[in-house]
Amino acid sequence: MPKLHLLSLDQKALEEFAAGHGEPRFRARQLHEWMYRHLETDFRRMTNLPKKWIEKLEADAEITTLTVQSRQDSVDGTRKWAFRTQDGHVFETVLIPSGDRRSLCVSSQVGCAMGCTFCRTATMGFIRNLTLGEIVEQIHYAARVVREEDGTRLSNVIFMGMGEPLHNLENVARACEVLNSEDGFGIGKGHITVSTSGIVPKIMEWAQRAPDFKLAISLNGSNDTVRSSVMPVNRRWNIASLLAAADDYIRITGQKLTFEYVLIRGVTCTPEAARELRHIAANRNCKINLIPLNKGENPALQPPDEDEILAFETILRQGDFEVLRRRPRGPDILAACGQLAI
Ligand code: SAH
Ligand code: SF4
Repeated sequence: MPKLHLLSLDQKALEEFAAGHGEPRFRARQLHEWMYRHLETDFRRMTNLPKKWIEKLEADAEITTLTVQSRQDSVDGTRKWAFRTQDGHVFETVLIPSGDRRSLCVSSQVGCAMGCTFCRTATMGFIRNLTLGEIVEQIHYAARVVREEDGTRLSNVIFMGMGEPLHNLENVARACEVLNSEDGFGIGKGHITVSTSGIVPKIMEWAQRAPDFKLAISLNGSNDTVRSSVMPVNRRWNIASLLAAADDYIRITGQKLTFEYVLIRGVTCTPEAARELRHIAANRNCKINLIPLNKGENPALQPPDEDEILAFETILRQGDFEVLRRRPRGPDILAACGQLAI
């Protein structure tokens, strides 16, 4: 029998587990507190648990299942870990410090099935979904590092690592709940963002399942010809259907939506594209997050230079919506957007 991964259990399931071992409910609450308040991973250091209960826990359960295969530190303070799962797969997690903030970029899958031409993760193909416990464990691990090395707490979590989060919707939604819960990590709903490549039917499901967390949609193309050429998902769900889902999302959740837009020289970063994107964003409760291309495996795709980006931004900023530019973090250790791959 494989051991039970306790980070995949909520408070109630933990109580059931304790009850199954003949332990009262408060023993589960103590354990929960050790795991989430003190970030403890060793049952033997849980000083108020009776020895017999500790022995049962050690026999049947575990808090950590991942091993750290490698760690890399960027000159800009960004840290990247490669985690190995018990079945031997490897995925990455990135910690991004910015002033007092500590943002964690987490993976929802090993690899990715979506095949975007500008993204290194796509070269891995899809391997498997991460379990709820594995998603939570990345955060648990990073929370310990941030406490020990920086003396602080995680402030934001973004599902922008490997994988398409809405293809692992239930586990991602439950991980968001653990992140947000006061007796979990206590991170505000507005500080947790899930980014999707645009799985249209799943956007509606997400709006109903987890309406209070932030959603970002990777648009990355201002018309179907361009978007289909860089994102195969657009051949299944085109821009019109994606925008209809985006509008439903905004209406149902009452939230502002973020559109991410990767700037690729001569492809998505042209004056024409800037006008089309301005048209898309106009009259929608949204903001645009521009991401200059981080170079990957594909030599045909190049980032624009600063003048080209400024020209694009100037056209876009004539619209009545917020435009942000995402600065690359950790490019020297291949930790920036679209650079994760094993
Ligand atoms: N799979 C999800 C989230 C992970 S990627 C998604 O695609 O939305 C997070 C963001 O990085 C996405 O908006 C994606 O379009 C962008 N991205 C991917 N590869 C990139 C690259 N090489 N340079 C810059 N941004 C990239
Ligand atoms: Fe997958 Fe996102 Fe990369 Fe596309 S950009 S291949 S959806 S991880």
